Parts: sequence; C-alpha cells; structure tokens
Amino acid sequence: MIRVLTGATLIDGTGAAPVPDAAVVIDGDRIAAAGPRLAMAWPADAEILDVRGRTIIPGLIDAHDHLASHGYALATRWGLDEPASTAHMRTARVLAETLAMGYTTVRDGGGLDAGFKVAVEQGLIPGPRLVLGIQIVSPTGGIGDRVSPSGHACCAVYDPLLPESVANGPDEVRDVVRTMVRAGADVIKTATTGGASSRPGHGPLDAAFSLPEMQALVTESHALGRRVMCHALGGPGLRTALEAGVDSIEHGCYLDAEPMLMAKMAAQGTFFVPTLTVYVYHRESASPHVRTRAVALYSHHVASVQRALELGVPIAAGTDAGGHGHPKNALELKYLVEAGLTPMQALRSATQWAAQCLGLERDLGTIEQGRFADLVVVNGSPLTDVTLLLDPARVELVLKSGAVCVDRRKTLAS
Ligand SMILES: [Zn+2]
Repeated sequence: MIRVLTGATLIDGTGAAPVPDAAVVIDGDRIAAAGPRLAMAWPADAEILDVRGRTIIPGLIDAHDHLASHGYALATRWGLDEPASTAHMRTARVLAETLAMGYTTVRDGGGLDAGFKVAVEQGLIPGPRLVLGIQIVSPTGGIGDRVSPSGHACCAVYDPLLPESVANGPDEVRDVVRTMVRAGADVIKTATTGGASSRPGHGPLDAAFSLPEMQALVTESHALGRRVMCHALGGPGLRTALEAGVDSIEHGCYLDAEPMLMAKMAAQGTFFVPTLTVYVYHRESASPHVRTRAVALYSHHVASVQRALELGVPIAAGTDAGGHGHPKNALELKYLVEAGLTPMQALRSATQWAAQCLGLERDLGTIEQGRFADLVVVNGSPLTDVTLLLDPARVELVLKSGAVCVDRRKTLAS
C-alpha cells in the first residue's frame, strides 16, 4: 500500500534546510520518496494523510536508555519490591509511552531482556524498535557487580534472560561477551569507570578493567558483529576504553580534561553520548556522595560537549533514563541545546547521528528513499523550540515502519 503525508514542512534529519509544503511517499514499511510536494507523484489510489501546517521529522532515537529500570533503590534494582510480572507490565507501559512521544528506536544499555524485543516485533505490545545491551559487563567491583552497601551479593533469583555479567581476565571477558550475545545482545555494554550513582569508592574517575581485558572485550564483540558502548566518565578508565577502541563513550563527563583523547575520538569517529539528563537528576539525589559527584562534574560535562562540537566528535542523544524514572526522552535535546548545540544539531543527535552511533544509518535516522518509514508529525517547529517535543499534545502522529502507531489528531480535534 502507498501512503503519502502531504503539506507539512519536512526536516529530513540530514541537516538540509527544511522543505515547506513537502510530501513523503511511503511504500509498505519504507520511504519511497520525500521532497517538495509539487515535484512528486504517487498513484491515484494512495492513502493521503493531509498534515498541512505541521512539521515532519524522522522517528526519534534514544541511544542510551534503561527501559526496564524503575528506580535506584536497592530493592527495586534487585527486583525485590514487587512481582516480576508487575515489573514487566510497568516496563511494557514505559515502552508504549516512549513510542507515543515519537521515539521509534531505543538502545537499551542493560536490564531489558530480549523477550521484550520479541513482544514488540510480534505486535503483542506497542514499543520502539529495540537495540539491546542485556547486562553491563564489568569486573568485580565494577558497576555490573551487584553488591549492596552492606557487602551482600544480589540475593534475587538468577534470571537466565539477564545472565551474570561480571568477568575478570581476558578469557572470562570473552566468555561473558559470548553469553550476552547468546542472550540476545545487539550491542555490548561495558563500563571502565564508576559513575555518579555507583557505590562510594568507585566514582567517576575510578577505573575498572585493564587494557588487555578491554582489548579482549572489543575484539570479541566486533568479531561477533556487535558494537561496544562504554560507560566511562573520566580518568584512566576513560583512556583504557578509547585505547581499546570502543565505539561510543557513554557519559564522558570529564572528556574536557583529555584533549588528546578527544582528538582521537574525532579521528576515529568514536561517538559521544553525554546523557546530560541523568546528571541533572543526580544533582538532587538523596545520597550525599551522588549529589556531590553530580554537582562537581556538570561544568566539565558541558565543556566536554562544547569541545566535542569544536573538534567534530559525533554526538548522539541518550537519557540514561530508568533509575530516575522515565522522564520524556526529549529532555536530553533541551539540555544539549543549553550546552551549545543548535536545535538542528540537537535534532540530528537524536535522529541521523544516533542512527550512525547504532550502526543503523542505512535503515534509520533520516527521511530519505529506502529508509524505514519512521516518522513523527509535530505541531510547531523543533528548530524554533526543541521543547515542543516534550508536549504530548504537539506530538500528533507517530509512524513506525509505515504503520500509524499514534494519532492524536482526532482526539485533539474533538
Ligand atoms: Zn546506562
């Protein structure tokens, strides 16, 4: 079936100037053509969606989320405070709500099992297309090592869909990478430093994994066709990650202190996924050590984003949502603009650049012939005000693979 969106202003995600009075022709699940309406043709029996006065943008992509995480409290993280089925229903609702805000693709950095991807693909639940990390690979004491402040190891029943992810030494690291791939990982998520919310003693500048361990991890992941997304905030762990050749640096708060490493990222095309959203949240954390870390790093984080822009380090938008609930993912675009991106750059960081970060740029991220028809119709221009993407009433129409998933136009008219 041919379906045509007509009359809207088209922002295609490539950075090209907006095209007024455009048409996007969809053939099945792919885009057949996009451009000025008067220059296009389609069969007489095509279904026309008249979206005059609106703006069409590519389906949005969050390059770093944790869709199955619902809080930082230990009992929540370990799955002790409600039945697993209840938590799964909660996750299903998050998937639906995320899609309804125009996020047609999400890369999950750990905690979401492959069954959710099957459920979305089979149409059991609405949700974005998913790129899964399954679990965070780290050494003993790293952020993938589930230990309580009292020193107890996680007492929850082992879930075969989320296998153990602690590995020490190159051989174990290779084994765990293979285990993650067996469990359905599309990407390997690892961590070479602590973070703002990690345990006292393993902070943003504290390292995890040796260079040989990381080299084994990257080599094995690439051999299995998986990219490596690496949580690394700063210090020697950040250097190890980049020396080993990871594909993206997640968070990267103290990159500004490493001009040589940033030049290396620009030269290698290593992506930077700042996830500013989670650090804004951590500034208000109830835990004093988390608050202190988040406050200390923020000016560095913004400087890192600015330096990345100057050097041409590619940036992808990610929220690291999950532990802090599920705020609207487009919050990251607002913070990226505040950090110095133009609204067009912020939009590309959540479309074309994010698709490149995921290695899916041939299928996703722009409105061009041959891409999946993942499209969002909004009321207003995100180039004037990127925060309109936070307002459900402005996100009127969401298409994924050519199918209309959300249509708020009727509700709004009545
Ligand atoms: Zn994360």
